[in-house]
Amino acid sequence: AKAAGKNCAVAFHPDMDRDESHRRYLERELRGALINGEISIELQPIFSADGQRLEGAEALARWNHSYRGRILPVEFIPLAETSGLIHQLGQVVLRQACRAAARWDGPFVSVNVSPLEFRRDDFILNVRAALEASGLPPERLVLEITEGVMIENADHALHAIRAIRALGVKVALDDFGTGFSSLSYLRKFELDALKVDRSFVTDLDNGAEAATILHCVVNLGRALGLSVVAEGVETADQARFLRAAGCHRMQGYHFGRPMPLAGFEAHFGLAPDGGEGHRAVA
Ligand code: C2E
Ligand code: MG
Ligand code: MG
Ligand code: MG
Repeated sequence: AKAAGKNCAVAFHPDMDRDESHRRYLERELRGALINGEISIELQPIFSADGQRLEGAEALARWNHSYRGRILPVEFIPLAETSGLIHQLGQVVLRQACRAAARWDGPFVSVNVSPLEFRRDDFILNVRAALEASGLPPERLVLEITEGVMIENADHALHAIRAIRALGVKVALDDFGTGFSSLSYLRKFELDALKVDRSFVTDLDNGAEAATILHCVVNLGRALGLSVVAEGVETADQARFLRAAGCHRMQGYHFGRPMPLAGFEAHFGLAPDGGEGHRAVA
């Protein structure tokens, strides 16, 4: 009956059918990619505001497809979310990120968490397992959540953030300013850091109003005792402005693009001995 239905669909809704079968094809590919180790992380440096010190790195998922080459998260994260593969993908990224940072002497690693992962009860157990397997001290792991998790189920989010922070892991609010969270949430949720969305930084080039808004956002974060990170810093002018405005940390192409692990470590002189011996020291 399914096959017959499908044939009918071709006749009546050719585009819908094609989209659906294409989606299912990609889903199979992603499932395979997770098994075959085609998912890896790139690391983008996060600097102190003065640009002098590497403080950490954000781990960003990459799909190195066998013949289609590198696929970016805009394409596969939504697919991973609708197919339920996001939990597996999140685990792969988290474990790679922890293993990498455990080799370094100092910098933290910051990992994006999908709202779907965040609301699962076993998420905290998985974080703990990744820390234990890697030997990474918890205070050198940051989990990036988005405003969506707070709105969806505020009670659960509050509980989960507390549990994560009780492990010693830090919590950052990513893409701040693009969601719909009220300001009172910011206080209630006991965060460690606030990442000011790239769109605010980009806007800086378009006049005084954008600068005023940015000052307000930075001051808000500072007043709440949070570490304020500017995202998407592309020029020296933007960096100067953001530093003067009081941002604590900077991330963006001006400071460095996301890089594969080996290149990142070589570029910043991390884990020079190849890492294995280094881990015991850290
Ligand atoms: P995000 O967490 O806000 O990450 C920052 C994004 O901005 C990255 O895009 C990064 O490459 C890009 N970026 C950094 N600096 C600049 C800059 O100066 N200019 C511009 N134009 N872009 C910059 P990417 O790697 O394509 O990731 C996009 C989004 O996909 C991420 O946004 C995050 O929401 C999501 N994502 C990436 N990896 C993961 C993951 O492992 N799990 C989950 N759940 N989401 C992920
Ligand atoms: Mg992020
Ligand atoms: Mg971000
Ligand atoms: Mg962003």
